[in-house]
Amino acid sequence: MTKGYDENKNRVAELASFGKDLARRARSKCELCESAGVALAVHEVVPAEKVPSVERCAFLCAECAKQMSDPRRFENGEHWRCLAKTVWSEIPAVQVLALRGLRRMADSQAWAREAVQEIYVDAEVEVWADASE
Ligand SMILES: [Zn+2]
Repeated sequence: MTKGYDENKNRVAELASFGKDLARRARSKCELCESAGVALAVHEVVPAEKVPSVERCAFLCAECAKQMSDPRRFENGEHWRCLAKTVWSEIPAVQVLALRGLRRMADSQAWAREAVQEIYVDAEVEVWADASE
């Protein structure tokens, strides 16, 4: 076993341990699309910091997590209408994901473009949202 493998394993375990706190914060709904009664999992918002923290994570359903993890699997469309609302979240990690999603769609979807124009985010959130893409 390599050191990298162990480090990754520890990280995965540490992220999983945030589940309880995140479930409370998210009120057991997906923090992006607000689906309830579905399986939710800890999603670390990139770029990852050396030490994972709850503040850098969001609690997401499988569909949101899949599309957010890989820009190539991101699909413009109705599923993401939710972002126009959740981009106003008080949680920076959620705002960052929502903002990234809206920006991906802004060229093709008028409602997404409007949402991007209307939203005001802190400079910190702005820098974070720009950091990975
Ligand atoms: Zn979702």
